[in-house]
Amino acid sequence: MKTAIFGLGVSAKSVIKYHITHKADEHFYIVNQGEPNRWKDQVQFKGDFTCIAQDDLQSIFKEINLIILSPGIPTQLPILQAAQKEGIEIISEIEFAFRLSDVPVIAVTGTNGKTTVCEMMAKALSDCDKSVFLGGNIGHAYTEILMDDTSYDYAVIEVSSFQLETINTFKPIISIITNITPSHMERYDHFNDYKKAKENIFKNNNDGLVLSKMDFSIANQKMPEKLSYNFEQAIALGEHNQENFSYIYESLKYLRLLDQLDFQKFINEFTPSPYRIQKIREIDGCVFINDGKSTNLDSTLAALNSFKFSHGILIMGGKIRDKSIEFEKLNLFKAKVEVMAFGDAATYIAESLNQNFKVKVFENLAALFGDLKFDDQELVLFSPCFPSFDLYKNYIERAEHFNQLVNTL
Ligand code: ADP
Repeated sequence: MKTAIFGLGVSAKSVIKYHITHKADEHFYIVNQGEPNRWKDQVQFKGDFTCIAQDDLQSIFKEINLIILSPGIPTQLPILQAAQKEGIEIISEIEFAFRLSDVPVIAVTGTNGKTTVCEMMAKALSDCDKSVFLGGNIGHAYTEILMDDTSYDYAVIEVSSFQLETINTFKPIISIITNITPSHMERYDHFNDYKKAKENIFKNNNDGLVLSKMDFSIANQKMPEKLSYNFEQAIALGEHNQENFSYIYESLKYLRLLDQLDFQKFINEFTPSPYRIQKIREIDGCVFINDGKSTNLDSTLAALNSFKFSHGILIMGGKIRDKSIEFEKLNLFKAKVEVMAFGDAATYIAESLNQNFKVKVFENLAALFGDLKFDDQELVLFSPCFPSFDLYKNYIERAEHFNQLVNTL
């Protein structure tokens, strides 16, 4: 029986590469939306495969027993439901790589903090002289581990809820769920479906460690405790980062590696990736912070809670996913924050906040900067709270644009 690789994203391309380099004489299928003539050039590999349109998938049902599904494609597609009825197994690339790799996995999921916790974990383990593969949703696809000659001690894998929808045997030695708050509700009918997908991270982890501040009432879960280290010199600001550090602390303790790391030094030195509460500039006592990775309310609240200030400007905006944001949670800051809103969500933000906040609406960031007055402010915080796809290719392009604009002031 044959395999069909469905989708053409980063992880799918890695699976295609693996099939070509390691299963060279095994024919497989690549499936994508629309006529193959329109997309087959994007495959960028030569090998023994046939490209077919998603609408024609049914025609190969009798030939295939496995579909490796890209995270961008919803499992609810009728053609996938039909495939499942035919007994065809549907798995994510995460499950695919896990079946073939024997490197112990530390997996991280959650609404916010996945990348930060994964990077903290990889750095901490490397500082303990362990060889670490860092991948999944971050950097390299997990499948790259199968084509790499390094002998790794650990694989630190960032996993999204979409990837976790289609796991089966995936069994990390440590599973971390940072937090689960409403997000991606464009893809899920109910919050509970999103939460359930995330909980799949510990579906098979009955003898390893599960770490989360949320109570899942399972025997091997540990809720991380408040750390008694000093955070005054930490570059990674805020209580949410103290929480992130606590996942690393508990993991090292579990792996019996704590004595190999100066944890205070680690806290003082760890630097989050760009655009996570990153200081860009200070002009006449006003600090400009780029938290451009923020795409939901919880991360924006985490950013606001990371600073002591009495007057500040919060810049928010982006693509509306759905209109269920609990803006009242921002009221805590109403006495000291003015809001400048831009893009698709600007009017929605203004209508939702107008009772309690001074809100100005702008078409885009450039127009917003044209009106930015910061003489009396201590903080200008760019923490958009919405995805970037209204005006930008991705969050990086949006965050870089903010930096450019700040540097023209
Ligand atoms: P993810 O990979 O889950 O998107 P990131 O580490 O890239 O997470 O951070 C995304 C946003 O969430 C940033 O704005 C960051 O400051 C914020 N953040 C990081 N950790 C947490 C946390 N534990 N709780 C809430 N927000 C967080």
